[in-house]
Amino acid sequence: MEPCSGRAEMLWSVAAGRYKLRSMADTIFSKILRGDIPCHKVYEDDHVFAFLDIGPLSFGHTLVIPKEEVTTIDQLSDESAAAIGRVLPRLCRAIKAITGIEQLNILQNNGPMAHQAVFHVHFHIIPKPSIDRGLVMEWSSTKLDPAEGAKLAAALSREIGG
Ligand code: AMP
Repeated sequence: MEPCSGRAEMLWSVAAGRYKLRSMADTIFSKILRGDIPCHKVYEDDHVFAFLDIGPLSFGHTLVIPKEEVTTIDQLSDESAAAIGRVLPRLCRAIKAITGIEQLNILQNNGPMAHQAVFHVHFHIIPKPSIDRGLVMEWSSTKLDPAEGAKLAAALSREIGG
């Protein structure tokens, strides 16, 4: 497998202690889309491609990617997002049927601090066969202050135009 860490240095720089996206480059997923390197293909349509993860967290771990070459989800076009949204539940149903594993997580990482290693948007479908297999995560929750929450929700709502 081609190492991805070099790509991370090309794509992200650390400025004032914050990661900053620089530019999109050719990733290993672009090579898979072009057929330059092999994969275990699961699904393809005009906008979406899905294949087995080479380092599965559990049996059936599948990656779903847009053909559109963007790095993080906020850069994804509505068209690609809709196409992925349409097919994700179908892929989940197929994975559940074939693996027999009823529970699963969808994971989507953006940025190196958020554990993104391949800088082409992708969704993980990770079957959860047991407590200690599949996605194992720490959930360090805090408490939402009601006043701060009201301010934040209003600001976000204004920003998205909803
Ligand atoms: P992420 O940390 O969200 O960027 O996840 C990247 C995923 O891509 C990891 O789970 C890798 O195992 C997977 N991966 C990297 N290269 C390949 C490849 N050539 N074929 C299939 N999966 C890959």
